[in-house]
Amino acid sequence: MDLEKTLLRKVGEAIQRFKMIRDGDRVAVALSGGKDSATLLEALLLLQKRAPIDFSVCAFTVEQGKFLLPIEPLGEYLRERGIAWTYFRDAPSFRLLEEQPKHGCDLCSRYRRRAVYEIARELGVNVVAFGHTADDFCEALLRNTMFTGKLSSLPPVTHSRDRDFRLIRPLVFVTEEVTRAYAEFLGVPVIPCGCSQRTGTVRRSLRDIFAGLEREYPHLKENMLSAMGNVDTGRLLDPRFLELETPARAELFPIVTEL
Ligand code: SF4
Repeated sequence: MDLEKTLLRKVGEAIQRFKMIRDGDRVAVALSGGKDSATLLEALLLLQKRAPIDFSVCAFTVEQGKFLLPIEPLGEYLRERGIAWTYFRDAPSFRLLEEQPKHGCDLCSRYRRRAVYEIARELGVNVVAFGHTADDFCEALLRNTMFTGKLSSLPPVTHSRDRDFRLIRPLVFVTEEVTRAYAEFLGVPVIPCGCSQRTGTVRRSLRDIFAGLEREYPHLKENMLSAMGNVDTGRLLDPRFLELETPARAELFPIVTEL
């Protein structure tokens, strides 16, 4: 199937380019209940069979009290397919929801990160795979540039602070057009999160901008991904990456005194 070939080629390219998975790795996929992480899990299971190295794959889900539908159909689907899955109801996240129902993403993701490390430790894995897609990388690039004053996106590979876990995002080159179609093909039950229905957010605005532009420029995200891997530091404003001549101290004084 072409869709599956495209998916595996792109995931394989990311794994290879960013050295995401190594021989003997124990990988846990963070299943969010959505189409992206479900697609990632399937892609890793298929690649596991074809790869020249040995690695194991399991999955887990952190429940933070935001799912709009029961999680059981997802558990059933995974059980039928013989996939080892751990469901973790994170009590601190539920307390947070009760005490601060309007908390923002910063707090929520900090709670989730702590829960993810706790589960990863229990599962005995050394790699955690997240389902962030090419769309997420492009949105993060614009969001960070416009709202944090930093030219950055998401790390394709990084480590937990104590370096116990390698954190990987193998869908970096896969767009949501592909994950949507593939999750539909798989027939995986999608459990929506309450946050996905929020309107008036920066994320929603960026998605609308992309959707509008992509009607005219269908390769927009591909170009943005290429740009992220081809940084021309000489055409940005960070002095750390510019060849600035350091004038002798004496040359500086006339300018300062003129002021
Ligand atoms: S979108 Fe919702 S679930 Fe995601 S980090 Fe923000 S508050 Fe948490």
